Amino acid sequence: MEPGDINPWLFQVEPYQGESLSHFLGRFRRANELTPAGLGKAARLGGAIAVGGALPIARWEKFRFNPPPSRQQLEALAKVVGVDADRLEQMLPPTEVGMKIEPIRLCAACYTESPCHKIEWQFKVTQECASHHLRLLSECPNCGARFKVPALWVDGHCERCFLTFAQMASYQKAI
Ligand SMILES: [Zn+2]
Ligand SMILES: [Zn+2]
Repeated sequence: MEPGDINPWLFQVEPYQGESLSHFLGRFRRANELTPAGLGKAARLGGAIAVGGALPIARWEKFRFNPPPSRQQLEALAKVVGVDADRLEQMLPPTEVGMKIEPIRLCAACYTESPCHKIEWQFKVTQECASHHLRLLSECPNCGARFKVPALWVDGHCERCFLTFAQMASYQKAI
């Protein structure tokens, strides 16, 4: 592979506005039937530049950004996923912003318009959706189950009671 070339044999996935890296990586992996380790291997992230013992893709899908992805890692990933490194960086929390790894949060009204998990929902300062003026959900409003990591969001419903994310919008409290 030449530097800058995009793997022609992989399906490309278009990022949504505001989409978190975890959600994007999950969609990309499913479109290409790749495991986290398989994607890491394709991007050659599993070797010398792997940090902390765990594979980078698996860590990033859980929002474990300590240490954050390096520029070198983002550029390597960019070649595989066909989305440039600057765009990938927008899927990460800005360095000055504190992150909440748990619970995973959701604005169901946003999800109805654009089916993705947004990175800003995990910022420490974020309590509500500024565009819908609704409080974010941090669990299923019907059964209380926590949301899975966004990389595993496939059909947009609660894994326990199957209430859809779209149906959850009516449970969100106004601010
Ligand atoms: Zn919203
Ligand atoms: Zn539920």
